[in-house]
Amino acid sequence: MTEQAPIIIVGTGLSGYSLAREIRKQDKESPVLMVTADDGVSYSKPMLSTGFTKGKDADGLAQGATDAMAEQLNVRIRTFATVTGIDTDAHELILGDERLAYSKLVLAWGADVIRLSLDGDAQEHVFSINDLMDYRAFREALGEGKRVAIMGAGLIGCEFANDLRNGGYDVEVIAPSEEVMPGLLPEAAASAVQQELENLGVGFHLGTVVERVDRQGNGVSLTLANGEVLEADLVLSAVGLRPRTDLARAAGLETSRGIVVNRALETSAPDVYALGDCAEVDGHVLLYVLPLMACSRALAKTLLGERTEVSYGTMPVMIKTPCCPTAVCPPPSEAEGSWEVEQDGTSVKALFKSPGGDVLGFAVTGSFAMEKQALSKEVPPIHG
Ligand code: FAD
Repeated sequence: MTEQAPIIIVGTGLSGYSLAREIRKQDKESPVLMVTADDGVSYSKPMLSTGFTKGKDADGLAQGATDAMAEQLNVRIRTFATVTGIDTDAHELILGDERLAYSKLVLAWGADVIRLSLDGDAQEHVFSINDLMDYRAFREALGEGKRVAIMGAGLIGCEFANDLRNGGYDVEVIAPSEEVMPGLLPEAAASAVQQELENLGVGFHLGTVVERVDRQGNGVSLTLANGEVLEADLVLSAVGLRPRTDLARAAGLETSRGIVVNRALETSAPDVYALGDCAEVDGHVLLYVLPLMACSRALAKTLLGERTEVSYGTMPVMIKTPCCPTAVCPPPSEAEGSWEVEQDGTSVKALFKSPGGDVLGFAVTGSFAMEKQALSKEVPPIHG
């Protein structure tokens, strides 16, 4: 019975579709069923924070209709189908009253946006963008509006700030940190990015938080903890993501910051695997594209009978703030060493060096950003 059951992949984001593609490179026929809570349209999520710069709306960013993806990959795709549980003993996926048998199950169901609880009567003006459907809803709600307040100065908040400014919007960024992209960029690089975003016209309100969002005319007023009051047409919340672990934990799978998997992407339950934003791979939670691509390649082989472990190389992150091109390769969190900084205005080259002088990480901005490839070769791979 279970021999005839398909491989089921939950999720049609970059992880789900990359894995399906990798499977089909090696095996054209094994039955694969993809199940997704959304519409299944294929798109590249990193492009969501480039839409205004490129003049592309949600339709313009879509790369493949669901039917076309199903045909191209020779898979079945169930859309608007939300998984509610997993019965790992019975090898069944649960969708409300329905049960679907799997031979192997892959969880590629991503991460949830963190939502802040704010006072005020304008919650419907607060948007998050973590998929193409969110993006469509945000753009439709923005309508003729011209002012956007962004909560969060992390990578995604800064990318949207740059993109919305390029689209001609007034942008104010509010965040509790004293710098942009804390924890990702060293101080000199963070200041450079902030400086160039300010030169572009982005306003920053750092070291404070939004306490209330209230209706005002067709837009909102935001009351900050420092007493400032800002006006905007819409609020974009970009305060972080959390791997989706609840259903996995309820099914008895080991979870920590993400769904815990080893380097073969195996969860603690037989025949259940995870990759992408929901997974904690060998202790690493990396919500980026390069890791999920490496995982897709390894996992496709494993699913087809050749157990393969993923090997993470160096994983530089390109930050899409065109006003200040930036790339970063953070050092391992437990690494000993310090940052050495070379700077020319807002062009910064920061190298994280061990006491012995080895480069363990880097951040480059402005004209130094072009050195990212050469520097990536100096940094040891994550899986050495
Ligand atoms: P997702 O794309 O979130 O897919 C999850 C899928 O699971 C969806 O199909 C969803 O419907 C489905 N699902 C969820 N729950 C259920 C359920 N219960 N039942 C059924 N289906 C379910 N990374 C980079 O490396 N470089 C960048 O420049 C970059 N830019 C980014 C810009 C933005 C604005 C954002 C938001 C992210 C960016 N990232 C970037 C991160 C990168 O895009 C993500 O790491 C990656 O797209 C995650 O893909 P995923 O398939 O794991 O998850």
